[in-house]
Amino acid sequence: MTNPLTKYYRKPVMSIALPSSGRWDPNGVYPADTNDVPIMPMTAMDEIVLKTPDALLNGKATLDVFKSCCPSIAEPGELIGIDADKLLVAVRIASYGHNMDITTQCPHCNEINESTVDLRTVIDNFVVPSYDAAEAIVSGCTVKFRPSTYNENSEVQQNRFYYEKTLQQISKLDDPTPEHYDSLTKMINSALARSISNNIKSITTPNGEEVTNRDFIIEFVTNVSKDELEKVANVTKSLQDQAFVPAFLIECQNEKCRKESKAKITFDLSNFFVKRS
Ligand SMILES: [Zn+2]
Repeated sequence: MTNPLTKYYRKPVMSIALPSSGRWDPNGVYPADTNDVPIMPMTAMDEIVLKTPDALLNGKATLDVFKSCCPSIAEPGELIGIDADKLLVAVRIASYGHNMDITTQCPHCNEINESTVDLRTVIDNFVVPSYDAAEAIVSGCTVKFRPSTYNENSEVQQNRFYYEKTLQQISKLDDPTPEHYDSLTKMINSALARSISNNIKSITTPNGEEVTNRDFIIEFVTNVSKDELEKVANVTKSLQDQAFVPAFLIECQNEKCRKESKAKITFDLSNFFVKRS
């Protein structure tokens, strides 16, 4: 028999549209209707998951919370980054309301200001960069671009954390050898190549052969000259700059200052979901 209690469970409290509309859907994982994604508030279990340091570190906490609060998204890790960012803001609003306290430092007088920002101004203003229009010619080949997925971004962050830790460990050694640094450099370069490849959709040779195989793309990125690769990095950078996250205008609380400055929120789980009393 069906549990008679089910109709008393939490229900979606809002619905959002995914900024990308699923147009780069890499693995056919987007819901049929990307304009109506129901969002439920977090459960007590979700909050506990978010407070587990290990889960936070590998990005799994966010995925577990997405699965719990956004049931129409079967594979949240395969969403492109900007869609996952918007989901995160939506879950925050659905769980704690649209006001969020932030602490900023005034750039004019260094006063520490506690302010409350309205997350609705963020959620309505996600802008998807024009990946389809972007192109770079690298060593005669045409590079086309795509947004990276949540899982790919998460891997980049984990790698960065791992290398910083390894570097710290090496620097603590009594007698670090050049080999120690060499192996670290090799790992960093390989991670960098993967990270750059995350934004490459395809590479077409001058005679029209299109390559979409990720391993081949990573190999290409590893083997072209630094100057050529910089062309890719420049396009990626300008695309990422287009991923508009609105800044909040914060008025300084210092009576003698009262100047306004801009503050941006970061999608960092560890502080994004801290509920202040
Ligand atoms: Zn000030």
